[in-house]
Amino acid sequence: MSLGEFDLIARYFQWSQGQGPRRAIVPNGDDCAVIAPAAGMQLAVSTDTLVEGRHFLSTVDPARLGHKALAVNLSDLAACGARPLAFTLALTLPRVDQAWLAGFSGGLLALADEHGCELIGGDTTAGPLAIGITVMGEVPAGQALLRSGARPGDELWVSGWPGEARLALEAFRGTLVPPLDGATFDAVRLRMEQPTPRVALGLALRGLASSAIDVSDGLLGDLGHVLRRSGVGAVMALGALPISPWLACCPQAEQHDHVLAGGDDYELLFTAPTSRHAEVLAAGQAAGVPVHRIGRIDAQPGLRVLDGAWASEGPAGQPVSNRWTSFDHFRAG
Ligand code: ADP
Ligand code: MG
Repeated sequence: MSLGEFDLIARYFQWSQGQGPRRAIVPNGDDCAVIAPAAGMQLAVSTDTLVEGRHFLSTVDPARLGHKALAVNLSDLAACGARPLAFTLALTLPRVDQAWLAGFSGGLLALADEHGCELIGGDTTAGPLAIGITVMGEVPAGQALLRSGARPGDELWVSGWPGEARLALEAFRGTLVPPLDGATFDAVRLRMEQPTPRVALGLALRGLASSAIDVSDGLLGDLGHVLRRSGVGAVMALGALPISPWLACCPQAEQHDHVLAGGDDYELLFTAPTSRHAEVLAAGQAAGVPVHRIGRIDAQPGLRVLDGAWASEGPAGQPVSNRWTSFDHFRAG
């Protein structure tokens, strides 16, 4: 180790002038950082850890890894409708590799800067590579978007193109026949390794969405959390699902598998009253991400997936049987 712990922090993990205004009243370097939300705002706090071999491949580009470690945390703020303020970084490193550290901190701080989310402290230890981030955001008192607010009659929406990250994972696993062409692989690999947290959309959905969650474990699994917390059920139409152009190469059944059961997408899944349909579309447009209506909340618990498209009365078609493993989330209990 040619670089001591404190030099390492000063060189790679210090919020600098180029990285936007300081939010911390006391930044890192003391025993605690001190921050305060603006008057009338509440703090939204979330932690996510990435462990080598479990959440990322050891070969991943360190800049993309730095981006992703913060992105998955910003995605949780987005799902709550919170504006990013600050984060802490608990970094466990097997060795001091300056090229790796430069790449990692470059990707991390670039995304932090983009969202005005200041690095205010952390912890640095030796051990198997792991990155723990705690992110803090602010939201007007009482306005955080929750999983528990979905109501019968609400429309069910998803942002962007879920399933792309899963296609990349399958390509890495070598399960695709035929394998992806180079351009498709590069595109979906970027979605898996460097996801875009939907922060602007989350902010635009404040006061509009009745519930929200970010899709980290797969659309159906995460929908299950919303339905259970809200005490409602849902009907979805396969024909209303957004199918990414990058998924066009897969058979239709696999496309649906990736969209519904793939994880690591970090899209927002949310509900809103039917009367707010046009406002939801406008929110997506303002946030620069398409939003797709994929189903409807109803009072009967559980999830029903229909094989048709969206008809004038809502999701249409015949019920499809339990094909996806995430359906386990909907079994009784
Ligand atoms: P203590 O022993 O008081 O917990 P540390 O020696 O762990 O303090 O850290 C010293 C200072 O450096 C603290 O202000 C801490 O927040 C900051 N720090 C440590 N690791 C990191 C990191 N990876 N990124 C940013 N700040 C860090
Ligand atoms: Mg410490």
